[in-house]
Amino acid sequence: MDKASKKRLKAQVREHQREAAMAALPLPVTELAAMFDMLDVELPLQGCDHSRRITKAWLTGRGHDVEAVFAWLDTQGGYCDCEVLANVEEKVDEAKKASQRTPH
Ligand SMILES: [Zn+2]
Repeated sequence: MDKASKKRLKAQVREHQREAAMAALPLPVTELAAMFDMLDVELPLQGCDHSRRITKAWLTGRGHDVEAVFAWLDTQGGYCDCEVLANVEEKVDEAKKASQRTPH
């Protein structure tokens, strides 16, 4: 395989990983974006107590499946409110960009 084909193949693999990440999202991207926006405001005010209490309160308030979202956050490295914002937001951003770029 030449260099160009290898590069294309790698790009394709990355694209598929992003698509998989997108498909595995527990909530619509717009809901997740709203959750991160909320944490952006609430986290500096309330502080992180090494739990996901702020996230949980928000999910409950919006009527979402807390267990399902938490299970997904575990897989994304979001084990407390500050980690949700620090680790997970950019992954969702990546997945969102990839899905918008996908030609099919
Ligand atoms: Zn934290």
